[in-house]
Amino acid sequence: MGLTGLEIFKHLPKTNCKECGFPTCLAFAMALANGKTTLDLCPYVSDEAKEALASASAPPIRMVKVGVGENELEMGDETEIFRHDKRFNHLTAIAIIVNDNEEDIEAKVEAINALEYEHVGQHYESNMVALINASGDAATFKSAAEKASAKTKKAFLLISDDTAAIEAALEVLAAQKPLLYAANKDNYEKMTEIAKANSCPLVVKGEDLNSLAELVEKIVALGHNDLVLDPGSRDTGKVLVDMTQIRRQAVKNKFRPFGFPTITFTSKDDPQEELLQAGTYLAKYASIVVMKTAKREIHLPLMSWRANVYTDPQKPVAVEAGAHEVGEVDENSPVYCTTNFSLTYFLVEGEVDSTRIPSYILSVDTGGISVLTAYADNKFTAETITKAIKDSGLEDKVKHRKIVLPGGVAVLKGKLEEESGWDVLVGPRESADIPKYAKEHFA
Ligand code: SF4
Repeated sequence: MGLTGLEIFKHLPKTNCKECGFPTCLAFAMALANGKTTLDLCPYVSDEAKEALASASAPPIRMVKVGVGENELEMGDETEIFRHDKRFNHLTAIAIIVNDNEEDIEAKVEAINALEYEHVGQHYESNMVALINASGDAATFKSAAEKASAKTKKAFLLISDDTAAIEAALEVLAAQKPLLYAANKDNYEKMTEIAKANSCPLVVKGEDLNSLAELVEKIVALGHNDLVLDPGSRDTGKVLVDMTQIRRQAVKNKFRPFGFPTITFTSKDDPQEELLQAGTYLAKYASIVVMKTAKREIHLPLMSWRANVYTDPQKPVAVEAGAHEVGEVDENSPVYCTTNFSLTYFLVEGEVDSTRIPSYILSVDTGGISVLTAYADNKFTAETITKAIKDSGLEDKVKHRKIVLPGGVAVLKGKLEEESGWDVLVGPRESADIPKYAKEHFA
């Protein structure tokens, strides 16, 4: 259990100097107890106090890194139970299973590599290859590790209860810092020794939450702290309950054995059901979700859902304000206008692109909010649009003076014409109607 605010307060200088950004030492202590600040913000804590407060100042969930280089994954370091309280820090990693006795290991790994998408301005991709020692044979596992690692730079999860098989695969993959799966009650001493010797993170697999906590304490006592938790449940409802308990105990009660990232496995064979299962786990609170399917039509919606869950709710998702070019524009290209809310912007961009008529899109800085919200908040007005036209340099880029206004704010037409001196064309209300509109007006 973590320390209470009052217990922490006893160790602080009590001068209320405010340098930490809090009005009093007590306020700082309370925030520290709730994981809302860090001890290093007080420059006056003694070394003695630092030691005493180490557990209170450590993040409630340890950050663990898997893999190396540009595909290194960070997981854990979460401080919230509900995203709207602050944010979730690290995307759930999506791992896809490759069996070591599969006929064409290279083809499966290439299918995993191909799970990359550009969607509304964001890049989505799968993160890990979960190599399973399905053959039960160490040499086969090692050879599969060789084949798979030749085809990808993604991080690896090595799955086998057999410590000899894990050691064999590590002869190939140790430098890639794979995540080892898993230490259980029977093999944990040897697994921990292997993980420590190779500086690899290790999954701890319990049979339930109690046995998991006991096993974590034993492994930490052996000197390994880069751990990932698997409570052993596979039924959707039970996984959800276990994940929620682990997160609550770690964040609210600072229960150290649960202060690590988590891993889940889908159990459904039908890809649609697997998608629902994986979507549930990544919302609450899996750091890794291991899946069977590599079908693109399953992974795109899953990654899109993941992007939504892990977006920082305190930061509007915005694109740069200004004139954006779509295609090979020239001085006659049409000009559309919208806000810099990225979802709106990229929907408009997608539709403008599909018209095949090179065009400009003027994105007006509304602080990253959508057209109607910005209009209601006086951020998408004749004045702000006029300023955006001037600031963007559009008047030098096109020789006409025509701008297409979103249909939802047609009411701005008169005032905008007065302010800007441009002809204002009222465009469609929905971005999906832009191609039809463009055909009628610009083809
Ligand atoms: Fe107290 Fe330290 Fe904050 Fe000063 S900086 S108010 S001493 S906690």
